[in-house]
Amino acid sequence: MDFGPLCAVPGCRTNTDIEDDDISFFQPLIENVNDWSSAAGVQLTEESKICERHFKPEDFIYPRLEVDGSIQVLKCLIPSALPTLMYEECTEE
Ligand SMILES: [Zn+2]
Repeated sequence: MDFGPLCAVPGCRTNTDIEDDDISFFQPLIENVNDWSSAAGVQLTEESKICERHFKPEDFIYPRLEVDGSIQVLKCLIPSALPTLMYEECTEE
């Protein structure tokens, strides 16, 4: 079965909460893979996707981009952002 992009963090609520499509996913840059892995406590690759729930509000920037005459606001991570917010209470043994 294919549920689309799922968060690489074990026990993440986004993985079961598939009705919420407002969630953005982010992938680590190759130089950030190790830092993200230790922050998230799980081995990641550059292909891994992490949902926005693991980042702090101050980790995001919202650049504006003009596309075909209309302004779109993007959601991006600052370069130093790490996925430090984990939901351990959701983890089942
Ligand atoms: Zn997640």
